[in-house]
Amino acid sequence: MVDRREALVGLDAADPLAGFRDAFSLPEGVIYLDGNSLGALPVATAGRVAAVVAAEWGRGLIRSWNDAGWIGLPEAVGDKIGRLIGAAPGSVLAADSTSVNLYKLLAAALGLRPGRRVILTEAGNFPTDVYIADGLAASLGEGHEVRAVPAGGLREAMTPEVAVVMLTHVNYRTGAMHDMAALTAAAHAAGALIVWDLAHSAGAVPLDVAADRVDFAVGCGYKFLNGGPGAPAFLYVAPGLQGQVRYPLTGWLGHAAPFAFEDRFRPAAGIARATVGTPSIIAMAALEVGVDLALRAPMAAVRAKSLALSRLLIDLVAARCGDAGFTLVTPLADAERASQVSFRHAHAYPIAQALIARGVIGDFRAPDVLRFGITPLYLRYVDLWDAVDVLADVMTREIWREARFSMVRVVT
Ligand SMILES: *Cc1c(COP(=O)(O)O)cnc(C)c1O
Repeated sequence: MVDRREALVGLDAADPLAGFRDAFSLPEGVIYLDGNSLGALPVATAGRVAAVVAAEWGRGLIRSWNDAGWIGLPEAVGDKIGRLIGAAPGSVLAADSTSVNLYKLLAAALGLRPGRRVILTEAGNFPTDVYIADGLAASLGEGHEVRAVPAGGLREAMTPEVAVVMLTHVNYRTGAMHDMAALTAAAHAAGALIVWDLAHSAGAVPLDVAADRVDFAVGCGYKFLNGGPGAPAFLYVAPGLQGQVRYPLTGWLGHAAPFAFEDRFRPAAGIARATVGTPSIIAMAALEVGVDLALRAPMAAVRAKSLALSRLLIDLVAARCGDAGFTLVTPLADAERASQVSFRHAHAYPIAQALIARGVIGDFRAPDVLRFGITPLYLRYVDLWDAVDVLADVMTREIWREARFSMVRVVT
């Protein structure tokens, strides 16, 4: 157990990822523990976006679709994300939002399992995933049902009427991480397909969707990939399925020959089939900067530091705030957690607000969870010491009781 800040200064000095911090533009006086919700701004993003705006758009005008490679960006950036998640080239597309991509892939998966009517998911999954599945089931009008069971009951619930298993790899509240290979194999053994949501996994933990035989996956560009608010999301389709699937949104850029302007839709052969309409180029350029940074960091080092930082935070909170009413909800076993640490507390909301007022930015998730994202590219060991210093002060002096910290804002 570390009981001196100086010991952590030494860890930071020896950290092989220490140099990445300078690649981010972090405000003075802030300890940012919310990179799992909105990643920090890379220094290079502003210049890249400015160049795309001034040179590619401003001077290149429409020629830039060809000359600056705009038309190929969703697949080019997709391939880069593919390297982070263990996907073969040509199987990832950067496009749309996670929610929209989930709709596209779920519908495609259901189409491959006619006669089966159940989408199986985990109780407590991220709301958009469940809302999207419910909405799709309703719009199909064929009696599909979304069935949610606790994590421990998933395998047993993989019955012959299950068409698709839809799971989020890392739980957004607790940071608990599923065994992707094992659950994928179980779904396949039951004759079902699987769709994984990698929102809190891509760029955060080692992933190998090809080796794990994943059918479909979606994920976020603005969390651990640092692509900026509302960055394009991504989707993965296993190469063997790409030619079989039919998507519910058949836009012109998913056509085999968009610029032939044919009267009828003919699907493109590869991952391009999942494209709907014109990509947001400025946002895509910002995303690419974040993805390029993530690709420069060896994932084994990222994972090792993430686990060490998480363990440090858990230990420091236990040591310094042990009697303040926090209950750790993140699993302690390394293999079972991703890159966040969450505590349950009856006053989690005002505590989160009091921390933010002191420059320690984590977040609150209803009903009672205080969440700290661990981002090894720009967090130092000393940052966690300093953050827990503030937390201990907020708790012992009961600063969170100030009325202003209980005013609930729209975004928590
Ligand atoms: C953040 C997150 C999303 C976000 O979806 P958007 O369409 O980008 O708003 C989806 N699923 C999970 C599990 C998430 O954590």
